[in-house]
Amino acid sequence: MIIDRSRLAPSTADDKLQQGARLCGQCRGRCCQHGAGWRAFIDLTVLQRWQQEEPGRTLADAVEAYLSMLPTEHVRSACLYQGATGCAMPRERRAEICNGFACEPLQQVGGLAANEPARAVLAITFHKDQIERAAVIEAGATHTVTLETPAVPRTGR
Ligand code: SF4
Ligand code: SF4
Repeated sequence: MIIDRSRLAPSTADDKLQQGARLCGQCRGRCCQHGAGWRAFIDLTVLQRWQQEEPGRTLADAVEAYLSMLPTEHVRSACLYQGATGCAMPRERRAEICNGFACEPLQQVGGLAANEPARAVLAITFHKDQIERAAVIEAGATHTVTLETPAVPRTGR
């Protein structure tokens, strides 16, 4: 499989910003759902990189190595490598986009934290128009908060 990288988001994640890492933890890796359709973004480039780091080994060995990293269970409808506590694949073995992707909220939080390191943000995760969970995120801690989905006013006749 060849991944058309022109269709993928640019790499923008900044690991140094704690608020960003906490936001991804709170989100539980929703972007990894795309890994299901894109086969964890593993293509020839990724396999050849493994091969270069393992002199004398074949591409078939690379495929075996990636198969051996699969967890026994994965999150429903998500990438086969996404387990309950995150990606089962070591960071250095992941495709570039897996380590570098930043969704728009992550970019916003990164921008805020870069300008103001002590910045706190409220992260609300929705599922099917319902609030699933929420938290106040600071550089050093994530504080779970309880929010309820606002009731939608009924329209009478
Ligand atoms: S990049 Fe965005 S969608 Fe992906 S885990 Fe982080 S917050 Fe969630
Ligand atoms: S390989 Fe890991 S980081 Fe990449 S999409 Fe799959 S679960 Fe997410």
